[in-house]
Amino acid sequence: SAEKVPQAPEDPLFGLMAAYRKDTFDKKVDLGIGAYRDNNAKPWVLPVVKKADDRLRDDPNLNHEYLPIAGLAEFTSAAQKLILGVDSPAIKEKRACSLQTISGTGAVHLGALFLAKFYTRSQNQPVYFSNPTWANHNQIFANVGLPIQTYPYFSAKTKGLDFEGMKSTIQSATEGSIILLHACAHNPTGVDPTREQWKEIANIIREKKHFPFFDCAYQGFASGDLENDAWAIRYFVEQGFELCVAQSFAKNFGLYGERAGCFHFVTSPGSDAGNTISRIASQLAILQRSEISNPPAYGARIASTVLNDPALFAEWKENLKTMSGRIIQMRKDLKSKLEELGTPGTWNHITDQIGMFSFTGLTEKQVLKIREDAHVYMTKNGRISMAGLNTNNVDYVAKAIDKVVRE
Ligand code: PMP
Repeated sequence: SAEKVPQAPEDPLFGLMAAYRKDTFDKKVDLGIGAYRDNNAKPWVLPVVKKADDRLRDDPNLNHEYLPIAGLAEFTSAAQKLILGVDSPAIKEKRACSLQTISGTGAVHLGALFLAKFYTRSQNQPVYFSNPTWANHNQIFANVGLPIQTYPYFSAKTKGLDFEGMKSTIQSATEGSIILLHACAHNPTGVDPTREQWKEIANIIREKKHFPFFDCAYQGFASGDLENDAWAIRYFVEQGFELCVAQSFAKNFGLYGERAGCFHFVTSPGSDAGNTISRIASQLAILQRSEISNPPAYGARIASTVLNDPALFAEWKENLKTMSGRIIQMRKDLKSKLEELGTPGTWNHITDQIGMFSFTGLTEKQVLKIREDAHVYMTKNGRISMAGLNTNNVDYVAKAIDKVVRE
């Protein structure tokens, strides 16, 4: 009976956010949640998003009708080109299908559900995540009943990639496993494979007939370069892999609460690829219908307005550079301040890592201490959101880290 439902723990990240809000200390710093903040620690509406928004609001023909099950077609086709590249063989050969989803989370979920239903049912292959990974991966894939395994990813010693560990686990995984990969700006570590390493990973995945599942939440936000951040996905597609991609527009458009995202499935080249993809698309549509009927319109309309207008698209790229540039500068500032202070340890990982997050290497004990003493909030694994740093607080944070490391 319902009385027996056990209490679930609070979501750690959203719990941290609530604790930060309650804190009345004037110098408190939020390095928890992964949302972009400007140099005044305020949410930033991208100027190009504001323009698209104004344009939409002025449109007398705009209404609130349902979108199709697969979403806004102008949006999904632009999203497909953005991630796969305008010259993608998968697009030319019509062997990619795309459905609009509830942001990146919805895309991961739709992919997980589809794979649970059509890919692994008879063989029960597991899905492999990096250790660590975005905490929600675990819940999403567990909810659809897929067996979960992990591959090593982060080396505590080098604070970089444990490439040997990653390769050997993927190599020894059951043939046909699903391998979840972060396309760029790995969350939570900020550590990405190099292009040479991606090629080796692709070779192992091919050899073991694994299925690559790319999660892409930071295209353009990581390096400021849309092509660069999509490189790994495009490389796998060029290599002829069958794969899927979960694409989020939360960070790169600052559309967090609007839930704009896309799920893409790409089949391998072959004479029957077109038929295969239309069968896959038909099943995805049924799953989508049963879960959400049709996706929310507004965020997709904003993204679509920008993606389909060359002038707005060019402006968006500048906005991406503003965000990624500020974050890269904060990495440099934090590192040099820690080095100036002579803080024990090495800090080059802060500038080596990329994207929204840095894995500082602080222990859970230090994380709790820095929260208590300095009111600096970060997740228990020592992850900091670089976007929470700015020229007004980076000194303060560096000193607080210095202090807690010396204690
Ligand atoms: N995957 C990863 C790795 C992420 O970091 C995020 C954002 N935190 C997401 C997916 C999806 O986020 P959203 O649903 O807000 O697009």
